[in-house]
Amino acid sequence: MTTKALHKWVLLVFAMLASFIAQGETQVLSPDQDQLQLGPLVEYLEDPKGTLSIDTISSQASGWQPSAQDVLSFGYTASAYWVRFSLKRQSNDDARTRPYVLEIAYPVLDEVDVYVFQGEGPAIHYAMGDQLPYAQRPIDHPNFAIPLEVSPSGVTRVYLRVQSSSSTQIPLTLYQNQKLVEKSYETAVSQALFYGAMLVMVFYNLLIFISIRDVSYLHYVMMVLSMTALLAGMEGLSFKYLWPEVTWINDPLLVISLAGVVSFSALFFRSFLTLPHARPRLSRVALFFAFAPAVTAVAALFLPYRPMMLITLLLAMTGILAGAWIGFLRWRDGFHGARLFNIAWSCLLVAGFLLAVNKLGLVPRDWFSEHIAQLGAGAQAILLSFAMAHRMTYERRMREQAQKESVAAQQQMLNNQIRANEDLDRIVRERTEELEKTNAKLKEISATDGLTNLLNRRAFEETFLTEYKRAYRDKSSLAVLMIDLDHFKLINDQHGHPFGDLCLIRTAEVIRDNLRRPSDIAARYGGEEFILLLPNTDTQGAVCVAKNILESLSQTLMDDGERRLTITASIGVAARVPQDQVSRETLLKGADQNLYAAKESGRNRVEWQVSSADEQ
Ligand code: GH3
Ligand code: MG
Ligand code: MG
Repeated sequence: MTTKALHKWVLLVFAMLASFIAQGETQVLSPDQDQLQLGPLVEYLEDPKGTLSIDTISSQASGWQPSAQDVLSFGYTASAYWVRFSLKRQSNDDARTRPYVLEIAYPVLDEVDVYVFQGEGPAIHYAMGDQLPYAQRPIDHPNFAIPLEVSPSGVTRVYLRVQSSSSTQIPLTLYQNQKLVEKSYETAVSQALFYGAMLVMVFYNLLIFISIRDVSYLHYVMMVLSMTALLAGMEGLSFKYLWPEVTWINDPLLVISLAGVVSFSALFFRSFLTLPHARPRLSRVALFFAFAPAVTAVAALFLPYRPMMLITLLLAMTGILAGAWIGFLRWRDGFHGARLFNIAWSCLLVAGFLLAVNKLGLVPRDWFSEHIAQLGAGAQAILLSFAMAHRMTYERRMREQAQKESVAAQQQMLNNQIRANEDLDRIVRERTEELEKTNAKLKEISATDGLTNLLNRRAFEETFLTEYKRAYRDKSSLAVLMIDLDHFKLINDQHGHPFGDLCLIRTAEVIRDNLRRPSDIAARYGGEEFILLLPNTDTQGAVCVAKNILESLSQTLMDDGERRLTITASIGVAARVPQDQVSRETLLKGADQNLYAAKESGRNRVEWQVSSADEQ
């Protein structure tokens, strides 16, 4: 070992001893070290009453503790904490100036006082904190940032006093200026991405709420908005950009926005997982988590920050666990939206849990634990929005399916009805046809004489009435022939009634054969009397028909296998053009009288009278 080396070692040991006595170890800064995490390198001192002044502190050598943490973290405490460290440049660093920035990356601290001693001069004092107007900061930055010039010769000593009703965390980093510029830029980009995404989710879902009026969307919007407000508050952005003068709002707003997250999450849970219908008990649990934070939120405006924040944090932690449990139960119920929902919720579960234990000072503060909240909140917001879209699609599909089924059922019903109507129509038609046939048959039967198949007397009367009226209208001649078989009683008596019937049947056939016109009508008028009605026929024509009948009859053999004989008949004819509608009887009487005359004149003959009316 050379003397020079020995000399160096001795100096080093002395320097170490000196610094140990004076104040910890002086941190030697090399020129290419552009960022230094000071956490593990500083010493701190607790001031439980918060009354010590910088003068007392700077001359006090005992009571200082070396920090064992990367980030000094004291949880929720009423004590003030003092932190000290000293800096010096490397002896071979001959740059004239080397500007540094000291950053305290926890913007919700109430009071931050920084004292910088250069050499033997008086301290430069910077007073900051979210209880002081934003404009008072030496550097316009959401975090606390102090310019620090480390001189080429001598030691720069820094004392920090921090007192806060929020969690007391002091993340200390020393940057060379250009490094802070670079880092700030990256931070700004990642914040822009995060807050941009959150605001897009807010506006997008707000518009969906306005258009479909599903209250889940409003709860979601309020939840994401509260979450965004909470994180913006914790990162000092709302103070910087929204109310740089209104210091009193900083603390309560953290409680209010956290309460909002819990409360609107619970409401969102309730509506999204359809708890009121499906699980009324769990719905009441959700309502508790919706209203309890509302109370702490209002109380935060009047009561001290710390207890309100602790209660709200407790509500948040139990609420997250309750949410996970309820989500699990709904998933087990088979609720369609629950799976995605639970994945989203577990993001928040992990993030919120880590954040809470971090704020309580249970785990060390580092980049991950600081940004887990943003990552968790962002992932949760996006996944929940996706879950809602998924639910909307699912519901639409269900609706479409139900519609399709209902349309099919309606069509089926309509078809059945059409078929039933057709059946009914057919049956009615068939029945009507049958009825009509039966009626026609009945009418025919009731109009027909059973033995001779000629019209019976009643049917004749009807026909006579209409034909008479027609003849009157047409001014045409209507003829009536009355035919009576001669000595028929004798035939009956000699040959028996059945043979008499046979004669009646044969006579009817003869009469029918002698009727040429379709309009001519023959009827059986009584026992062995027939009557003929010949429309459009005068006396002459009628007599002609009568004679033809007698002629035919004389040539017709009445033959029943045992007997063969011919019979005769007498015919009275009357014909006239009706002079009025009602004097039918005159015509009948005329025919009857002529029949009588024929009988009188020896039978088997035709009798008629020519009147002047006939010949018209
Ligand atoms: P006339 O030449 O004067 O007409 O003598 P008639 O015997 O035909 O006279 P009358 O009118 O007194 O007799 C009618 C007879 O006709 C009486 C009855 O025995 C017979 N008669 C009436 N209806 C039927 C019938 O439906 N069947 C049969 N077989 N005979 C009948
Ligand atoms: Mg008679
Ligand atoms: Mg007779």
